Amino acid sequence: MRPLIAGNWKMNGLTEPSAALALAIRHGLADAGAEVLLCPPATQLAAVSALVEGSGIATGGQDCHTRDSGAHTGDISPVMLADAGARYVILGHSERRQDHGETSAIVAAKVSAAMKAGLIPIVCVGETESDRSAGEQETVVGSQITESLPSDFTGIIAYEPIWAIGTGKVPTSADIAAMHAFIRGELIRDQAEGVGFRILYGGSVKPGNAAEILGLPDVGGALVGGASLIAEDFLAIIRAV
Ligand code: PEP
Repeated sequence: MRPLIAGNWKMNGLTEPSAALALAIRHGLADAGAEVLLCPPATQLAAVSALVEGSGIATGGQDCHTRDSGAHTGDISPVMLADAGARYVILGHSERRQDHGETSAIVAAKVSAAMKAGLIPIVCVGETESDRSAGEQETVVGSQITESLPSDFTGIIAYEPIWAIGTGKVPTSADIAAMHAFIRGELIRDQAEGVGFRILYGGSVKPGNAAEILGLPDVGGALVGGASLIAEDFLAIIRAV
């Protein structure tokens, strides 16, 4: 399985810059050794999906509701994401867990809804800096995995230490490898298909550190925030595979 390099644009992207970024990535991508995914804001999803159609680049949402439709003002359903061209959806990102009070139980319900709509969920887990200082990172990530994944889960896990997101701080390679091995063990124990799931690393992935991170055992790709907004940086990360 080729590594997946996923760009999480977060709440960034008006119409023209989003189109320019999507086209620059499409045109800069030559013989990529990776699968490439762009997760623009929901307002740009249909347009970006159309711009990358036929290129092999996939698109995804950054969150979804648990229901397909209904009286949920401001929410977006997984069926709507799929209708706008998405194949994937990021769920349980730490910014959603923190800013919107999303518990792992809510994330699990969203994961089930996304799978039912035919989307591939990318479920984010990760510890805070104080969890790590207290040596609690495996306990925290282990419970997030157990509680955020339905028993019939198929999809992708993204390990994103919260203290590494947007900070320029990155765990040591040994720490990333240890956590990915731990996550793999949890998946194998809890999930019938756990041995085959991709585990992405996310948190301050940049062109300068991508090759080392992507070369670590059990790192099946990267979830990239800030660097995915700059076409040449994102393309350099893809080329680092
Ligand atoms: C993210 O928020 O998913 C992320 C990894 O951000 P950054 O690459 O900016 O640390």
